[in-house]
Amino acid sequence: MFASRSEEYYENTYGYCVTNRGVERGHRLPQVLLLGDELVVSVLRREGSPWSLRFEGEDLCLYHEGRFSQVVGLPEALPFFGKELSDGVLTDDVISAYGAVTPGFFLYPDCHYFDRGAQCRFCSLRAARSTVAKPLVKDFPRQRIMEATRHIQNSGWRVPMITNTTGTPLDDEGVRRTVLEPLRAIHDACDPKIKMHLLTHPPQDLGLIEEYKRAGVTSIAFNIEIYDRDLFASICPGKDRLYGYDKWWDALDAAREVFGDYQVYCGIIWGLEPLASSMEGMEAILDRRIGLATNVFHADPGTAMARRPQPSVADITALAEREAELYRKYPDAGTIYDVSMRNTIDWEVRNGYMG
Ligand code: SF4
Repeated sequence: MFASRSEEYYENTYGYCVTNRGVERGHRLPQVLLLGDELVVSVLRREGSPWSLRFEGEDLCLYHEGRFSQVVGLPEALPFFGKELSDGVLTDDVISAYGAVTPGFFLYPDCHYFDRGAQCRFCSLRAARSTVAKPLVKDFPRQRIMEATRHIQNSGWRVPMITNTTGTPLDDEGVRRTVLEPLRAIHDACDPKIKMHLLTHPPQDLGLIEEYKRAGVTSIAFNIEIYDRDLFASICPGKDRLYGYDKWWDALDAAREVFGDYQVYCGIIWGLEPLASSMEGMEAILDRRIGLATNVFHADPGTAMARRPQPSVADITALAEREAELYRKYPDAGTIYDVSMRNTIDWEVRNGYMG
């Protein structure tokens, strides 16, 4: 349906998750849809979904169970895509963008937990990088990443922050080489200097957190994903066995000492543990003066959880209502992004959409 259209818009590049069964880049699926009122939503193609899309002339129309719901918009084409770098690589294969308007990089796009069969059960990073996302670069030498950063900053978009996400190298030396070095290059290339967010696995040596700050990182996230200790062990076996639930919290506290209150974030996934446990987890995070980064579970093809039902609207609503109460209780906590994002409603909840 999208492949035959002539419009230009931001197409999904599947940098770290597959999200759609049998998808190819040539299908040109948008990563998000614009719902109006500055709201964006992820596009996850699912057989049997009550939602469907259809072009009617120029309008892209959203239907629910066959009934017209609204006209939706396509995200603007990324102005920093389509540029060739001096090594011949296209910016499309170097830069990642999250949501509709937040560019950055996915550094070290692999994870050693896959080698041990201990990957997080929802994670489709390796499946993505060996199929639909294969053309994306895996290495970020200094020159390449500096040029790409300049394209972002000279694109004409107001970009307040560069967002960096990483896979998980085997050890801290790997982190220094494949994550810290590129971060330094991004920071050096930025003119003017802007915020740099980093979502990564915590290091073994917590002293490395200070090195992130010195490299120019301004906020950091370590996603524990699951608050319940036993479910954490079964859903994230690598993080549990090779790092540890308690050490994860120690790392978050250590990062808060480096970056300050609510400049460190911890993600949990809605839909992978009982509601009461998610709610308790959200409060435990905010109570530690750590920011919340929730994500609504999506069942990615090629993962152990591909057939797990996604959370219901009723469950998402209950969690969002609790989150709204918590934001009132912890008014100093903000969100990583100052815009609506695709798989989370933190920004909407923080801005009072739940009343
Ligand atoms: S730590 Fe888990 S979520 Fe992160 S890349 Fe590895 S398997 Fe995926």
